[in-house]
Amino acid sequence: MSCATSFDEPARIAALRRYGILDTPAEGAFDKVTNLVRTLFDVPISAVSLIDTERQWFKSITGLDISETARSMAFCDHAIRQDEPLIITDAQEDPRFCDNPLVTGEPHIRSYAGVPLRTPDGYNLGSLCAIDTRPRDFSSEQMAALTGLAPIVVEQMELRLLAERDHLSGALTRRAFIAELDKRIALFTRHRRPAALVLLDIDHFKQINDRYGHPAGDRVIEAVAALCKGLSRPSDAFGRIGGEEFGLLLPDTRDADALAVANRIRSAIERFEITNNPPLHVTASFGVATIGAGRMSSEAWLSAADTALYQAKRAGRNQAVLAPIEAARAA
Ligand code: GH3
Ligand code: MG
Ligand code: MG
Repeated sequence: MSCATSFDEPARIAALRRYGILDTPAEGAFDKVTNLVRTLFDVPISAVSLIDTERQWFKSITGLDISETARSMAFCDHAIRQDEPLIITDAQEDPRFCDNPLVTGEPHIRSYAGVPLRTPDGYNLGSLCAIDTRPRDFSSEQMAALTGLAPIVVEQMELRLLAERDHLSGALTRRAFIAELDKRIALFTRHRRPAALVLLDIDHFKQINDRYGHPAGDRVIEAVAALCKGLSRPSDAFGRIGGEEFGLLLPDTRDADALAVANRIRSAIERFEITNNPPLHVTASFGVATIGAGRMSSEAWLSAADTALYQAKRAGRNQAVLAPIEAARAA
């Protein structure tokens, strides 16, 4: 295999971020692979290591009780710079690694085999590796097994991403979006970081399906989702809550700013012409609720925004309503 990897570090980091996998809990599929590598190689340690800007973070590690190390110590940071496997038979004899703290100190790494985790678009995000505390060779059969397992790890990363995304709109699924709400609630509890939830529901959407057919309805959902995403910031989470209902989670945003975001999207939807024969126009109604007392579970927070959304519908649609701050919060 040639050394064809283009090492565009910002693009590689952006690709890694797209998988949304850093700092997520352990998952059985990845642990099964590292356990298998440990058995196949008869090594004490195996890991799925992902190389972040300043650290290597382990999606799975078996035989060592750590979740990350500095990037400067990472053998895997060398593995990602080449397409072929990186094999170190004795780290003490290798000038790149002989004074590495993981070699001179715990866990006293002496040998290493790592295969890059290469995405379909060509970025090496990390590596699948086998690590031993004694010098050793790795057989061609073992290297073939490791080389065969690495793409399975990448496929697993792709699958977990797909499971979180709605295929029609590209938005987070309801479940994944609710997980984002829970994270923001935890951040608010610990650090009082504000956040706002914007719910939107397309007005009279049933009529679109009835008049122009379900495929036209699908195009409307796609167009509205694309508009919302285009107008949100990278740090916002965007999810499809139900059929033609979407949620936007705005970190560090308070009432007035959240309402302004909702109205900006509302007016963009109102002005947008959706490609169809004939072209379609739709509007949407919005409910906005910032985090706070009475909204400290994802259900309660969603419900506060939903009540405001219902009021926007009742008041004539194509408008945004802010859920009132409760007396307890104002006090
Ligand atoms: P309102 O202004 O009160 O929101 O009226 P509405 O017609 O939008 O009301 P409702 O929420 O009852 O209708 C939503 C419709 O969306 C019903 C359902 O058949 C349709 N729908 C749900 N998911 C999809 C989808 O993925 N594609 C299409 N084309 N239609 C969908
Ligand atoms: Mg609707
Ligand atoms: Mg609806």
